Amino acid sequence: MTDKTEGGDVRLSGISKHYGTFTAVHPLDLTVPQGSFFALLGASGCGKTTTLRMIAGLEEPSTGTVHLGDREVTHLPPYKRPVNTVFQSYALFPHLSIFENIAFGLRRRGIKSVKKQVDEMLELVQLGQFAQRKPHQLSGGQQQRVAVARALINHPQVLLLDEPLGALDLKLRRQMQLELKRIQTEVGITFVHVTHDQEEAMTMADTVAVMNGGRVEQLGAPAELYENPRTTFVANFLGTSNLIEASVESAGSEVVVSASGTTLRLPAARCSTTPRAGGKLLVGVRPEKVSLVPAEEEQAVAAGRNRITGRIAASSFIGVSTQFVVDSPVCPELEVYVQNIERDARLVPGAEVVLHWNPEHTFGLDADQD
Ligand code: ATP
Repeated sequence: MTDKTEGGDVRLSGISKHYGTFTAVHPLDLTVPQGSFFALLGASGCGKTTTLRMIAGLEEPSTGTVHLGDREVTHLPPYKRPVNTVFQSYALFPHLSIFENIAFGLRRRGIKSVKKQVDEMLELVQLGQFAQRKPHQLSGGQQQRVAVARALINHPQVLLLDEPLGALDLKLRRQMQLELKRIQTEVGITFVHVTHDQEEAMTMADTVAVMNGGRVEQLGAPAELYENPRTTFVANFLGTSNLIEASVESAGSEVVVSASGTTLRLPAARCSTTPRAGGKLLVGVRPEKVSLVPAEEEQAVAAGRNRITGRIAASSFIGVSTQFVVDSPVCPELEVYVQNIERDARLVPGAEVVLHWNPEHTFGLDADQD
């Protein structure tokens, strides 16, 4: 089914939300490109649901405007906006069949011949054979697909999803993530998805806005956020980062830093701040970018790599890889993930080791940020 609904971008300009003296969302400018899968990601209480509800019209912004394409909708009630919301609680009508649940929006608008459209929706969410069942006869994931079909049949310009997979177990969540992505690609309308689960946001979204304390900390494609976090919050919220406090020795296109006497290098282009000789920098590297060898093999490490010596404090086998925690004078509790095929039997707790990685995989953060 192809239903590329016209409409335009969702544009939030200076919107904020205060509850009394508490600011849930600080003034925020955000553009969600038409047809994209956009995720608002953050921990509980960061303001993501409030932001979504301001797009839906369920919450009046304290300041700012909401546009859908050229049309300002800031003060329109929800039912006058070309927007539908799918909540975590599917809120299906228990006494109606799946067919009638999906047909509901059309019937309410007085449309008599609904079969073709409902069948199309049933096909889209792959529930054709369940049309005559009642909601309680479906699994959680299937019920959530009905909720999506029931919203999409109204041809919204934007579908808002508020933690729609929150009630599902991990396996089903993963299946539904792929399913929602497939559905979004097929219908081509804008999806704005709220989640606190970084893996979920990274799997589904074209663009992710990472929220913290009522503000967007960073916006970008999942890989961009992962590779180039610009704040310590983003570096730690999306995956795990080793962050090493260092002082800048020289800063050209390559930045040279020193951490407890160990010299490390990184490209200036991978720094979120402009490093200055004599200043501080937080140097980051992802655990899976780091290799680990017994100390006696240090000579075998290629020249030009960043290297740190330390001692294995702990290791845990997690299937495809082994996670090591390494204590070093440069930084306590460095994390390293090693693929099991590369594992060395000498890498046991207490062993002296050398960690090494490509300077290109190193990023730099402002050491003075909050
Ligand atoms: P969660 O994942 O827990 O839903 P969230 O990131 O979606 O969190 P919001 O629901 O947007 O967070 O809430 C942001 C902040 O605003 C929270 O601290 C919340 O307690 C507060 N808040 C939300 N609604 C109200 C309200 N009606 N009155 C007062 N404070 C509110």
